[in-house]
Amino acid sequence: MDDLEYGTRNKRGDWQPHQSLNVAPFWRLPFSGGKILSWLLSYLFGWNLLFFASALVWWFLVLPDVETMKTLSAGWIVRLLVANWVAIILFYGIFEWRFYKRQAQDRRFKYNGKFPSEQPSDVFWFKSQNIDNFIRSILISVPIGTAVEVIALWAFASGAVPMIALADHPVWFTTLVLMSPIIHEAHFFFIHRAIHWPPIYRLVHSVHHNSVNPSPWSSLSMHPVEGFLYFASVFWQFALFSNPFLVVFQWNLAGFGAVVGHIGFDKLEVTPDTAIDSHAYAHYLHHKHFEVNYCDDGVLPWDKWFGTWHDGSPESEKLMQDRFRKKRERLNRKTSATPPQ
Ligand SMILES: [Zn+2]
Ligand SMILES: [Zn+2]
Repeated sequence: MDDLEYGTRNKRGDWQPHQSLNVAPFWRLPFSGGKILSWLLSYLFGWNLLFFASALVWWFLVLPDVETMKTLSAGWIVRLLVANWVAIILFYGIFEWRFYKRQAQDRRFKYNGKFPSEQPSDVFWFKSQNIDNFIRSILISVPIGTAVEVIALWAFASGAVPMIALADHPVWFTTLVLMSPIIHEAHFFFIHRAIHWPPIYRLVHSVHHNSVNPSPWSSLSMHPVEGFLYFASVFWQFALFSNPFLVVFQWNLAGFGAVVGHIGFDKLEVTPDTAIDSHAYAHYLHHKHFEVNYCDDGVLPWDKWFGTWHDGSPESEKLMQDRFRKKRERLNRKTSATPPQ
């Protein structure tokens, strides 16, 4: 496919789409029934359906019955950890292998003109973004995330928090399934905003932002504190009279869903003439500019509400630069008002 029909490439080789990002159509006027319908179809049958299907597989093939999960025994915990490891390695690995190792579509639709393997850097273990990100994901984030998942499953199974059954409360159960992606987005926005507070950023979140040019393995490349906070989204199910199945769905949304923003390509070519949208642009802009798009372009426009939305357009760029300039001026005023020691 000719990516220059859909965007432009600058002198550095970075590609930018013509089409700016949009918040969900029910937040935009005038309302368009067609756009709302197509948005709903992609919400129900896009990535979310894949993560829901994965939760069903986990529920029926990986996890034991609720009775067994009343006890924190090594058998089911290790099986869950191994399943999470294998699934993350395979799922992320497919994107890594096809688009970064084989470079199946070369640099077409690639936001950053370079591949991480072309940019060795001292900020990464072994000077390699790929090796560093892989090790951090597999040895830090997945075990910590699985520990969080185990605690949540055990809390429901043991009766420490109340739970409902699908048969008794099918409407509430279905509502929770539909709400889980919204819970994930809201949780991610607020913890992400919090870890951008400079003292925490330097200690914690800077690890994730070492990858200015993110690739699939960057998705869960996190400091342990961020890994814990990220997967803590499953604890919201405690407050909702939920069910351990929803814990698994919430976890898979976070664990597998993290790759979406880090694919690095705007479109993924399926055949020489067709491609699917990756939905990676909002989070790519976050890695590029740091203080925009703390959440993706999901159901609720959190960034728009909090003044940190960047849709990729020149207007958004100007708003962001104005915001950065005001922040610098504020900091300079503070510094000059501090009496010399
Ligand atoms: Zn990221
Ligand atoms: Zn960030």
